[in-house]
Amino acid sequence: MSLHVWWGHRIPAWICESCGELIVKSVDPDRCPKCKATDLTQETDVLDTWFSSALWPFSTLGWPESTKELSLYYPTSVLITSFDILFFWVSRMIMMGIHFMGEIPFKDVYLHALVRDEHGKKMSKSKGNVMDPILVMDKYGTDALRFTMTAFAAQGRDIRISEERIEGYRHFINKVWNASRFVLMHIRECDPKETASVDVDNLSLPHQWILSRTNRAVSEVIKGFEDYRFNDSALAIYQFVWREFCDWYLEWIKPALYGDDQEAKDGARRVLFTVLEITLKLLHPITPFVTEEIWHVLPGSRESIMTEPFPEVTPEWENREAEATMTLLMGVIGGIRNIRSEMMIHPSASIEASVICSDEGKASTIERFSKDVKAMTRVTSLSVMAKGECPKGAASYIYDDIEIYVPVKGLVDFEKEIAKLTKEKGKVEAQLKKTRGKLLNEKFLANAPKDVVEKEKEKERTFVAKLTKIDESMARLSVIEGD
Ligand SMILES: [Zn+2]
Repeated sequence: MSLHVWWGHRIPAWICESCGELIVKSVDPDRCPKCKATDLTQETDVLDTWFSSALWPFSTLGWPESTKELSLYYPTSVLITSFDILFFWVSRMIMMGIHFMGEIPFKDVYLHALVRDEHGKKMSKSKGNVMDPILVMDKYGTDALRFTMTAFAAQGRDIRISEERIEGYRHFINKVWNASRFVLMHIRECDPKETASVDVDNLSLPHQWILSRTNRAVSEVIKGFEDYRFNDSALAIYQFVWREFCDWYLEWIKPALYGDDQEAKDGARRVLFTVLEITLKLLHPITPFVTEEIWHVLPGSRESIMTEPFPEVTPEWENREAEATMTLLMGVIGGIRNIRSEMMIHPSASIEASVICSDEGKASTIERFSKDVKAMTRVTSLSVMAKGECPKGAASYIYDDIEIYVPVKGLVDFEKEIAKLTKEKGKVEAQLKKTRGKLLNEKFLANAPKDVVEKEKEKERTFVAKLTKIDESMARLSVIEGD
């Protein structure tokens, strides 16, 4: 085997230095067929680069020798490439595979997206819209860049990338980091062996729920990877970590973690530990650095997270009932929180709430978990009734067939809030007038670039939506004030 750098296959053509005969052969000739001279010189040029790279699937495995690698890894599984070399490379690899190996080299070809700028333009140095990934990674972290790419890697679509998007996913990486630190604070003394199996039947609702949801996340992430829908995997893990694990589960179990009931505390810790480990493994292919870092500070002696088996669905965690119960309670909690924010009630102000629900099953569930609902909404008393009317001076929210009321008289300074809204309304109206002025100006419309005009139209829509919201809030306040 020669040791020089292979720039391509040398063209199999020789010139006879004696008689000038051109010889083309698949086997190196040792003499001229015409004059029998032996001073032959091979052409120094090489074949087109695609000719050599078409051999890549088997030449890299030792071909033409019949090596162990070749029998083990050929045909390969998947080829990842860009659509613009589909014919140059992919189809030639297939032709060569059929010719030399008698078998096509791969069954799946994943055509990855092209990264474009935020306006969908191809990045080019002359346009100056190129993003240097090294600088981006220095600024936002490699995991944030990787997560952004994965989250936007929808099949058949190019990735429009902007710093804002990467920054957004950096928040997510921070969220993972902070949630892990919170969990670590509580599981420091946990024995990893004890958490190996959680006794799901003896756990309270939020734990049963999060384990069932963990299953869902596991199966969605796996499905996304299997189908080469990497954005689906990213979205599933994002929703699970942010919305379910952090927003709901961690908040819900805080009383247990900080309470005196040792059994409840231990149960919570075990589930926390289990779910965090699975979450890190699910995230690892997309965000390897932060997950490896966290992995090594978890209790127990650990090898790299890379060598861990990928999570699988645990059938005994599947719990439709717990999921339905949590959905109901989250709806009620969401309703009370909605009233709190729409009525601009101070987050620390204590409020009372009543729920009217004629469905006995649902009503008794809400009753049974009223302690949790109260803790999650800072409500001091929660009454559940089968029938009733909206009390005077109360704000209401409808969730499915459930009516939720919160008396707000005395909690809200109506005059002050209405004055605040009126001022805000004036401001937005002035902004809207300015934007509409531009949009009615023919000179502006004729001369401004398309995306600038589009931005003004977008602004107009935002201002109109804002005004509608302000009007609604004012109407709500006036109705209750009049009660
Ligand atoms: Zn010759």
